[in-house]
Amino acid sequence: MGRLIAISNRTAADPGARAGGLAVAVWESLKSTGGVWFGWSGDLVGQPSRSVRVLKDDGVEFVLTDLSHEEHDQYYLQYANSVLWPVFHYRVDLAAFDSDAFQVYAAVNQRIANLVAERLQEGDSVWVHDYHFLLMGDSLRRAGWDGSIGFFLHIPFPPPEVFRALPEHQWIARAMCGFSVIGFQSQQDRSNFTRYLIEDCKGKDLGDGVFEAFNTTIKIEAYPIGIDAKSFEEAATTQKAAKASERIGRFLGGRNLVIGVDRMDYSKGLPERFEAVGRLFDDYPETHGSVSVTQIAPPSRSKVDEYRELRQTLDRLAGRINGDYGDLDWIPLRYLARSYEREELAGLFRIARVGLVTPLRDGMNLVCKEFVMAQDEADPGVLILSEFAGAAEQLKAAVLVNPHDTRKMAEAINHALTMPLDERKQRWEALRDVVTKQDIAWWRKKFLKDLESLQVDQG
Ligand code: ADP
Repeated sequence: MGRLIAISNRTAADPGARAGGLAVAVWESLKSTGGVWFGWSGDLVGQPSRSVRVLKDDGVEFVLTDLSHEEHDQYYLQYANSVLWPVFHYRVDLAAFDSDAFQVYAAVNQRIANLVAERLQEGDSVWVHDYHFLLMGDSLRRAGWDGSIGFFLHIPFPPPEVFRALPEHQWIARAMCGFSVIGFQSQQDRSNFTRYLIEDCKGKDLGDGVFEAFNTTIKIEAYPIGIDAKSFEEAATTQKAAKASERIGRFLGGRNLVIGVDRMDYSKGLPERFEAVGRLFDDYPETHGSVSVTQIAPPSRSKVDEYRELRQTLDRLAGRINGDYGDLDWIPLRYLARSYEREELAGLFRIARVGLVTPLRDGMNLVCKEFVMAQDEADPGVLILSEFAGAAEQLKAAVLVNPHDTRKMAEAINHALTMPLDERKQRWEALRDVVTKQDIAWWRKKFLKDLESLQVDQG
C-alpha cells in the first residue's frame, strides 16, 4: 500500500491532542504507513494563506494551514457548526442558513484540496474526515487527483426529508459522489444517504454496498467507530481512577450513583434527561435518599446563544428537583459544568450503578462504550442508552430508551437500579464483548481494507 493521507479540520500535531479516539486511530494508521496529515493549524490570520507549516513526528508529516478570520467565522463557526451540525442532528429549527457562509465553506474545501493535491503521489490513499469537508471529494477531483478517496462522517446523516432542508443539498450530494468510499457510523445513516441518492440523484444500488450516481460508483458502508477498549479498561483501575471513585464515594455515603457525562450540546438530550430524573423522584418515592444523580457537562462553544439557553434550562430544572426533594444530607441531582481527566471519568463510571447516555441524536457516542469498559466485572453497572445514538445498533444488551419519553426513562432508571446481579452481569458481558471486538483498531482496519481493495480494483 502507498502512503495514507488524512485530512481533518483539527489534527493531532500537538502530542497532547493524541488522546481522543479519532486522533489515536488516525495517528496509528499514519505511523504504520508513513503518512501525511493535513488540517488547520489552530491559528487565525488576516488573509487566506497559501503558506503551510510542516511538522514531522515519528515518521508522520503534518501539513497545517492557518485560517483567515473570515474563513474561521463563515466556514467553521457558521456553515459547519451552525448549519451542518444542527441539520445533520435533525434540528432544522436550529440551523442558521447562510448562503454566503456556504461559499466560504466551499472555498476552504477547495483551498485545502489544492494544498493536498500538490503533495499527492501516485498510489497514495486519501482519507477525509467529517462534516467540515463534505465537498473535499469533488474539490480534490477538480485539483486533478484521480486516485481513491475515502470519507468518514463522524456525525449522523439525516433522512432525505431533513437533508433537503439544506438549500445546498444537491450541490453537497453531488460533491460527495467524488469520494470512492463513504463511511457512516450506522446502518441508519447509511440508508438515509443511499435513499437520498436513489430518490434525488437517480442513484442505483449495484449490490455489495456499491452505488452508481453521477456517472461514478461509490462504496457506501457503515463502519461504527470504536474506542481503545483495552486502554479504557486499564484506565479504570489506575490510581487516579481510584482517587476519583473515593472522592465521589465520600459524597455518596453509600447511595447509588447514576452518572451522565457529555459535552454540553443540545443533541445530548440533557433537559429531557433532567426531566426524567424529576419523574423518577416523583413516581418512585423509594429512591428518595438512596440515589444520587451526577451529570458532568462542560460548556462547549459557549458563544452560541442556544448553549447559554441550555445552561439556563439545566440550572432551572436541577434547582426545581433539588428544591422539591433535596434534604439536609442529600442532593438528588448534581450538575458539574466542568471536564475531568480520562482516568477520573473511568473511576466515576466504575463506581456508578447506572450510566445514563440519552442523546436525542448522536453519530455514535463513545461515552457509552467507555462506561461499559470501566465496569467491575464482579458488580457491573447498567447502561441506559438512547435508541437514537448510533451505538444502539451495536449495544443491544443495554436498556434502550426513547429519550423523549421521560416517563419511560424514569421507569428504566428505576428498573436499572433494582436489576438483580445476574441480569446485570449477563447484559454487561454481552456489551463488553461487542465493545472489545469492535474497537478502534477494528474500525480503522475495516475502513482501510475497503479503501485499499478499491485501489487494487482500480489499478
Ligand atoms: P461527542 O464527540 O459528541 O462529544 P462522544 O460520546 O462520541 O461525544 O465523545 C465524547 C468524548 O469526550 C468521550 O471520549 C468522553 O469521555 C469525552 N468527554 C465527554 N464529556 C467529558 C467531560 N465532561 N470531561 C471529560 N471528557 C469528556
